[in-house]
Parts: sequence; C-alpha cells; structure tokens
Amino acid sequence: MFAQGQNFAVHFRSPQLLGLLRQRLGGPAAQIQTLSSERRPYITVVNGVDEWRLSVYLEEEPEPGDAVAWVHEAVGAPIDVEILAAQPWSGHCVVARSYRSGRVFLAGDSAHLLWPKGGFGANTGIGDAVDLGWKLAATLQGWGGPALLDSYELERRPIAVHNVTEASSNWKADSRLVADAVLCSAGAEGERVRSDMGDLIRRSRGKEFRSIGVQLGYRYSGSPVCMPDGSPEPPYEPDDYVPSTWPGGRAPHFWLPDGTSILDHFGRGFVLVVSGSADPSALVEAAYRCSVPFMVLRLTDSAAARAYERPLVLVRPDGHVGWRGEQAPADPDAVPDRLRGAEGSRHATGPRMMPQASGRLDTHQV
Ligand SMILES: Cc1cc2nc3c(=O)[nH]c(=O)nc-3n(C[C@H](O)[C@H](O)[C@H](O)COP(=O)(O)OP(=O)(O)OC[C@H]3O[C@@H](n4cnc5c(N)ncnc54)[C@H](O)[C@@H]3O)c2cc1C
Repeated sequence: MFAQGQNFAVHFRSPQLLGLLRQRLGGPAAQIQTLSSERRPYITVVNGVDEWRLSVYLEEEPEPGDAVAWVHEAVGAPIDVEILAAQPWSGHCVVARSYRSGRVFLAGDSAHLLWPKGGFGANTGIGDAVDLGWKLAATLQGWGGPALLDSYELERRPIAVHNVTEASSNWKADSRLVADAVLCSAGAEGERVRSDMGDLIRRSRGKEFRSIGVQLGYRYSGSPVCMPDGSPEPPYEPDDYVPSTWPGGRAPHFWLPDGTSILDHFGRGFVLVVSGSADPSALVEAAYRCSVPFMVLRLTDSAAARAYERPLVLVRPDGHVGWRGEQAPADPDAVPDRLRGAEGSRHATGPRMMPQASGRLDTHQV
C-alpha cells in the first residue's frame, strides 16, 4: 500500500551503466546521489557489474513504467533498464527492549531497524548471529554456563543502540540537503549553488562513508563473559579504527608469514594466541577441564606478536578477545569459567576431560 512521502527501492539490471559512470566520473563509484530532483534518486552498486539499486522519495503514487523513468532521470541518459523488483521501504530508529524470552532470541531486523544510511543494518544483524551462534552451540554441547545466553543481549543490544543512532544521524544530515534544480544550470548562479552544495556535502555527509570505527571498532565493554585486564579502554571514534586486543574488542587482523590472516584461524572454538616464551599450559589445562573447544596458535612473527600487545591473548569463537595477559593467572580456571558464562558455578556444567583423555590439544605455529 502506498503512503504519502514514501521511499521506493528499484532493483534493476543495466549492463550499460558501469561504462557510462566510468566515462562521466572517471572511475568507479559506490553510490550516485542526484540532488537536482525533489525525488532525490540515488543509485547504489549491487554486484559491481550490471545490477544496481535505485532509491527514490515519492510524494505521489507511482505508475507502472515509472521505475525506468526514475533511472533515466538519475543517470541523465536513456540507457537500457531491466526492472528486477520494485517495492516501498521505510527507515526506522528502533531497538527491541529485550532480545530474549525464554528459549526465543531476537536477532537482525527483528531486534533493530535502522535507516539504511551507513550500511549498518545487515552488519548489525550478522554481528548478532555470530555472537548468539557460538553461545547456543556452547549451551547445546554442554560447556556453556548458565550466564552465557543472557550475555547475548548484554553484549549486542548496546551495539544496536549505537548503530541505530549513527544511522539516524546520517539520515538527518542527508535530509538537510535540499534538492535544487539550479544545480543543473550553467552560468554563475549554477556554479555558486554547486559549490555551496559541495561544501555542505563534504562537511555533513562524509561520516556515512567513513565509518570504519562503527564497522570494526565496536567492543563489548562491561561484558559479563569477558575478563577486563585493568588497562584503559582504547579511544573510540565512528570514523577511525584503532586495532587493539583490549578484552571485549574484535581481535585485530594481521597477515602471518604463511600468507593467512590471523582471523582465518578463529571461529571454530577458543584460540589462545601465544607469543614469545609465554607458557600457555595452565590455560590449556583449565580449558580442557571444562571441555571448551580450544586451540593454541603460536606466533613466530615479531610484528604479529607486537600487534597482539600481550604474550597471551584468548580469542573467543566469535573473534572477540575474552582475556589477555602476560602470563596465566593464579587461578587459570577462572578464565574459561568467566568466558563460558560459568563463573561461580564451576561444577554445574559440562563433562570434565583431562588433556590426555580428550586428545584434542591442537597447536599451530604460524
Ligand atoms: C533500502 C535499503 C538498503 C539497505 N542497505 C544496506 C546496506 O548497504 N548494508 C547493510 O548492512 N544493510 C542494509 N540494509 C538493511 C538490511 O537489508 C537488513 O538489515 C537485513 O536484510 C536484515 O536481515 P534479516 O535476516 O535480519 O531480516 P530479513 O532480511 O527481513 O529476513 C527475514 C526473513 O524471514 C522471513 N520470514 C518472516 N517471517 C517468517 C516466518 N514466520 N517463517 C519463515 N520465514 C519468515 C522473511 O520472509 C525474510 O526472508 C538496507 C535496507 C534497506 C531497506
């Protein structure tokens, strides 16, 4: 059903458009905004070759055939267009109050809806799935503790609130750009309006496209299933990313001598990243005592070791750092117990296996 003041999205195929944009812009572009029309059409790349998405803002109900005309208006040329889909969409600024009710968990758009301004929507949802996935597996496999599933909302909801707010602020900045037909005029007036609009865009709209801090720099500060090391939280800026192994943050990427990224080694269980002469054995034994899937990754490269900041860094199955230190703590069991949500209930979970019984000591040297 059409509602007045509605956004419409059109998924279309046009093999001609890539060449046309290269010719006009001198190179590839990810998003093309047209500011001379009240409809504010903008085109985004879908597959980088011949599929695109056009979005327009409509005050009137669309007619069949309008979609092709909108594409022509946006690109300023009568190119061949095959419409694949066209439908209304709306932006939002909402986060569910609770992510869990008993055995039911919310993730993705069911938990939060954003303005599509910044590319945060699916990213936030995928982050939910990665966080919830290993916690569900841990619970079903018997090594997850009673606090693990509740940590999902505590870790992910603040990220959703932050990302929804960032997306709304990008949308507000975009709404302040008022379409002006004079932008297409030749002559001094057109020049002046284009120059003013350029300044305004550079000042107010850059943050939508420079958001690496939102994408990679988020961290689970205060998480009940991460173990702080007392070091100050690194600075956070939405447009900047400072790689760090601060507990709660994403373990940083680093190229290893064998050509893999250190991130390629994460995801199948806990990984204890060891460098220098640090002794991982107390933590390995603690991990086996509570049956968590566990691997040791020994860094031979000194630059990678420096990037990881501590000789022992314990990375969770979702790639976030759960603990780090110079050496294993006096009570090594406290680390896996905290990270698997079993703090204070050590004897209540999972079967206990000694390393020699489980036969799963997995050590990689890179
Ligand atoms: C115009 C626009 C542009 C966007 N651009 C970006 C972008 O650049 N980057 C980005 O990260 N995000 C973007 N997003 C947001 C992104 O599309 C959504 O965040 C993402 O698709 C949500 O994924 P989801 O799996 O959580 O939900 P959905 O994609 O809604 O998937 C839910 C699925 O469940 C199905 N379903 C519903 N009920 C039932 C049922 N009872 N039984 C079985 N199946 C059911 C639905 O049919 C649907 O297939 C954009 C959104 C819009 C509107």
